[in-house]
Amino acid sequence: MDYHPIKKPNVKNMKVKPNLIKRTGGKGNAVWDGIQQELSWLPGGTLNMAHECIDRHAEGAGKDRKALLWEGKEGEKETYTFGQLKEESNKFANVLKELGIKKGDRVFMFMERVPELYIAIFGALKLGAVVGPLFSAFGPDPVKDRLFDSGARILLTQPALRRRIADILPDLPELEHIIVVNKNNRDPDPFVKGDLNYDDLMKRATSELEIARTSMYDYSVMHYTSGTTGKPKGAAHCHFAVVQQYATGKWVLDFHKDDLYWCTADPGWVTGTSYGMFAPWSNGVTQLIYEGGFKASMWYELIQRYKVTVWYSAPTAIRMLMKAGEDIPARYDLSSLRHINSVGEPLNPEAIVWGLKVFNQAIHDNWWQTETGAILIANIPAMDVRPGSMGRPIPGIEAAIISDSFDKLPPGKEGNLAIRPGWPSMFRTYWKNAEMYNSRFRKGWYITGDRARMDEDGYFWFVGRTDDVINSAGHLVGPFEVESVLIEHPAVVEAGVIGKPDPIAMEVVKAFVALRDGYEPTEELRRDIMAFARKKLAAAVAPREIDFIPSLPKTRSGKIMRRLLKARELGLPEGDTSTLEED
Ligand code: AMP
Repeated sequence: MDYHPIKKPNVKNMKVKPNLIKRTGGKGNAVWDGIQQELSWLPGGTLNMAHECIDRHAEGAGKDRKALLWEGKEGEKETYTFGQLKEESNKFANVLKELGIKKGDRVFMFMERVPELYIAIFGALKLGAVVGPLFSAFGPDPVKDRLFDSGARILLTQPALRRRIADILPDLPELEHIIVVNKNNRDPDPFVKGDLNYDDLMKRATSELEIARTSMYDYSVMHYTSGTTGKPKGAAHCHFAVVQQYATGKWVLDFHKDDLYWCTADPGWVTGTSYGMFAPWSNGVTQLIYEGGFKASMWYELIQRYKVTVWYSAPTAIRMLMKAGEDIPARYDLSSLRHINSVGEPLNPEAIVWGLKVFNQAIHDNWWQTETGAILIANIPAMDVRPGSMGRPIPGIEAAIISDSFDKLPPGKEGNLAIRPGWPSMFRTYWKNAEMYNSRFRKGWYITGDRARMDEDGYFWFVGRTDDVINSAGHLVGPFEVESVLIEHPAVVEAGVIGKPDPIAMEVVKAFVALRDGYEPTEELRRDIMAFARKKLAAAVAPREIDFIPSLPKTRSGKIMRRLLKARELGLPEGDTSTLEED
């Protein structure tokens, strides 16, 4: 079964809300057919995420409801209602229109979590542009790869981030404009000649706009995700994804209209868009956005001060809170919390026990990935949490454990976690890489790349990845990306990268490097290579440890045997080494 990038239907001829699942290649599915009726849609059966998340509330009873409570890292506070977000995003759409941006053009953001990031994303979506938010901790290399591959025409950024990537900008032939946001005039020297000033553009723009009549098949959001080989791939989603983001906001995050929600993920990663924008706002829920990073006392203080009711975070953050001790939370009133969720890595049973002690309730684990666009497997509030399990497939989703020949395995057997394609938020292509996209679908299943097992009651238990991808603090790191940077260092001739188990971050990146003749394996050189990688990548992606080895184990066809490096590192059996190259 092939899932080629979808064809756009003739929207003009659509009179009624179409049966979407049939059109996406899956079976008719009463669950999704029903829930999609709860969205507003646009004339002619068209659908735009920005309309579902912002305008439909702004044009109704939700106009003056608070959508966004922002707290900056310097303690600044701002509040936006749905009505104000509508106005501001309309203006930004008009700014882009003036710059010649059309439906389908890529507009990327390299920004901290400031309100302008959110306004810009919805403004671009209103025009039918495809948005790509990038993680603000990235160094120049990952930013360049993503801007180049996507062919982004516009980059929205901030002065310090722009300085960080100045050297790569000449290598981006399709990038036409850089728009700079100098938030609250924090930077004394914000603009480079040729850049556009966000504030000036917005002052001149009108807030009159008719939202683009995007079809549900038009691309909306792109997130780059890492694989074992090659550069990260741009997983592109469509406007239709909002149906499932809306539904899971209700079913899994248990949103009620008067909730105060906080998602700690950055919009540079899929959780920060699907659940840091689309799920809460399509449900009309008020959310807190905190620009600062992790600090245990500050996080508890935010929960207390904003009276957060629903909280979505990640196992690494929870383990960091656990490490900070129980004295700190004891100083805060956390009783507003009604429902806590976690995603991105396995949630250890100890974390659930700790949650029961500190928050007086279980932390609910759920599973999904960049490609799935929304939660697929979850411990929903009505279910008994089984500590250590990711939960059960949500309504409308068929998940299974399948063998390496893609046949269904019985309960209790470990195998490949697979999903029946056709769920609304399914990715629709890897950007400019349809072949890789199609390779993820086999014998009627989407192959997730995770290993898991299912018990007799249909609960799924995560086992590990089937590939060499590293999960560090919930962020997937492709070893190839890190190895490519390491060999740019003059002393390094080859490099192999693995994930080393870590009690907090699940895994940290560890590199093995072989040195060019004439270089000595000194402590100074090790530090220099680490600093080099951190500058080019990001602290979260760069190796935390580097070992020097004379040469890397390779297959006869020249591929680095990362599996062997890992087995040796962990003192495990080396497994089948019959393809190992002889020295
Ligand atoms: P990403 O595409 O960066 O969001 O990462 C998705 C990957 O994170 C999945 O394929 C899993 O390997 C891992 N992951 C996500 N959620 C969970 C979970 N609840 N338990 C275990 N692993 C998870």
